[in-house]
Amino acid sequence: MAVNLLDFDAGGLAAYFAGLGEKPFRARQTLRWIHRRGQDDFEAMTDVAKSLREKLKAEARIAPPALVSDTSSGDGARKFLFGLGGGDAVEAVFIPEDGRGTLCVSTQAGCALDCAFCSTGKQGFSRNLTAAEIVGQLWRVNRTLGAGPGDERKISNVVLMGMGEPLANFENVLTALRLMLDDNAYGLSRRRVTVSTCGLVPGMDRLREECPVALAVSLHAPDDALRDELTPINRKYPLRELMAACLRYLERAPRDFVTFEYVMLDGVNDSEEHARRLLRLTRGVPCKFNLIPFNPFPGSLFRRSPPPRVGRFAEILMNAGIVTTTRKTRGGDIDAACGQLAGRVEDKTRRFQRPANPVYEMRPS
Ligand code: SAH
Repeated sequence: MAVNLLDFDAGGLAAYFAGLGEKPFRARQTLRWIHRRGQDDFEAMTDVAKSLREKLKAEARIAPPALVSDTSSGDGARKFLFGLGGGDAVEAVFIPEDGRGTLCVSTQAGCALDCAFCSTGKQGFSRNLTAAEIVGQLWRVNRTLGAGPGDERKISNVVLMGMGEPLANFENVLTALRLMLDDNAYGLSRRRVTVSTCGLVPGMDRLREECPVALAVSLHAPDDALRDELTPINRKYPLRELMAACLRYLERAPRDFVTFEYVMLDGVNDSEEHARRLLRLTRGVPCKFNLIPFNPFPGSLFRRSPPPRVGRFAEILMNAGIVTTTRKTRGGDIDAACGQLAGRVEDKTRRFQRPANPVYEMRPS
């Protein structure tokens, strides 16, 4: 089968070109055509030597995942469903805001971690996305959105907060991250690319070594007993280890804080006492909090915390000097909220119905 050039970062493409007897600068030139200009037709790469174009046409292709649907919300949020073959599908969500545009991308079809409150987790795990399928979401959406006035790209930030656990698909995520940061590809700064993890400690350490970008950690509980229940991976990497890993990460991180995501579950993790215990837990760890009101889905066991309780919770954190944001509601019409992303094509439908529920912004703090 033809090689998919979207699977290569700069180093990988240079190695592939070397195998074809081509110079490294040819690889850089081709990388720019593919990612900066969104070109998938070798014939259109006019400054690439004809002989090389012929070689590429014969044995390579530029193949992002197929766009199955593109749904716009009234307020500009836009959800893209990609078919991956074999009945698998994933979603990416574009969230425009003043002065920036964030794309939330998926890294796995389904998820193996089974967090109690997440509908992606309830689907079970199907498979890892390839690098081409991860970066291909960005490639495709970039091309679909086109350039803004002054020619700037509409996607200024990427968050790996879609379906799946990015650090459980490390190699392919790493390749995709390198492309996001590469000046010959998407040229995003490390601060504008965020990996969100539910706390895979070895993966955090590896990311710190190999490609430190902004980090968000899904915390959800101030103690091990509760976190064990909500996020079973905690039994393997308990909070003490997780906090230590956050501190290690910060030595190399492009930002001087970790963002803790915290889903607000009515009567479960949202009391004043929980907030105070969070202060003790995170003492000494430079952090911001992003509170996510729970997005219920039929069959889910939790309820969303009432807004006054979320407000009080945020106030306790803020009074202690921790910057705290609450993810805002928008685009209630397109079913793209955190924890609800679930690719649906053919028989690989998720087990639950579309929730009549609003979308939350997936904004990196
Ligand atoms: N696996 C990664 C990234 C994907 S989830 C992680 O766990 O961080 C992105 C965020 O949405 C996580 O913080 C996740 O805990 C949260 N989330 C999952 N289900 C949710 C739900 N039903 N309502 C609100 N947030 C949810």
